[in-house]
This record gives sequence, structure tokens and C-alpha cells, in this order.
Amino acid sequence: MNKRGHVLNALLLALGLGFVIEPGLDAATARTTAQITVPIVLGALFPDVDTAFGRHRKTLHSLPVLGIFLAYPIVFGNLRYVWIGVLTHYILDVVGSRRGIALFHPLSDAEYGFPTGVTTSSKYADLVTVVVTAIELAAFWAIHTHVVALDLDLSAASEAAAAFGL
Ligand SMILES: [Zn+2]
Repeated sequence: MNKRGHVLNALLLALGLGFVIEPGLDAATARTTAQITVPIVLGALFPDVDTAFGRHRKTLHSLPVLGIFLAYPIVFGNLRYVWIGVLTHYILDVVGSRRGIALFHPLSDAEYGFPTGVTTSSKYADLVTVVVTAIELAAFWAIHTHVVALDLDLSAASEAAAAFGL
């Protein structure tokens, strides 16, 4: 997927997640949406930095990189929702485009993708992006409601990380 698709995905997702995390039509929902939109869009833009540094769809499209973005807010108390942007970038590349991504780089250069995608220049690219975003929103809603709150207080985990000298 191209930059336009990733930004569209991130903006729609952040808007939807604002309502998932802070249901309502009030200032608290608007505040939450604003709070999560910036890190999610930044995260969604990040993996394609490997078009300039490293090898595209390998260097910054891997599970170890996602792990770093998951650990970062716990260790540094910053960039809390950025991992959502990185994760949805991967999902959109895997599901929405023809070429896969090297999930296990640097251990393996094999690229994983679904045969479902369209080429990044396809006239259906925006439609595919919107459909993928809707499915992601449903999944995040289910996780937030039934598994773990997306706005979980990470301070206890941060303190534990600090205790281990991180
Ligand atoms: Zn990408």
C-alpha cells in the first residue's frame, strides 16, 4: 500500500478508536481521538522509512520492529499508541497489497502476504483500505471490550521495567 493508503487507514482507525476507548460524543471523546491520532499516523508512516534506509518491506516491516514499538512506551513512558500505527501498516501491506512483508527479518527474508491484495496503484486501493480498516476496528473493539483495555495504565509496567534497570 502507498503512503496515501496508510494515512487514510491510520486516520479512519484513530477516529474509530477514539469512540472505542472513550465512547460518547463529548469533549472527552474528542480529546482521546486527538491524543491517539498523532501517534497512530506517525506509526503508520514509519515502516516505509525502509524505502530510504535498509531494504523495503524487510528492514522495518518485521515483528522485532513491532516489538520495539510495543516495549517503547513501557520503558520510556512515551509514544503510547504508536504501535497501533505500525501494526496496521503491516496488516494493510499483508492483506491489502500484492507483495508481502518480511515478518521475521533479519532472521529470514521470506515475505508473507495474503493473495487478497490489489496493486498499490489500483483504483480499488482506497476501497480495500476502508474495508481493512473496518475489520481492524471491529477487532480492536473486541480486544478492548473482552481482552485488554487499549488505554490500560502502563505505569506499573514502567516501574517494573525500571526495577530491571531498563
Ligand atoms: Zn509498507
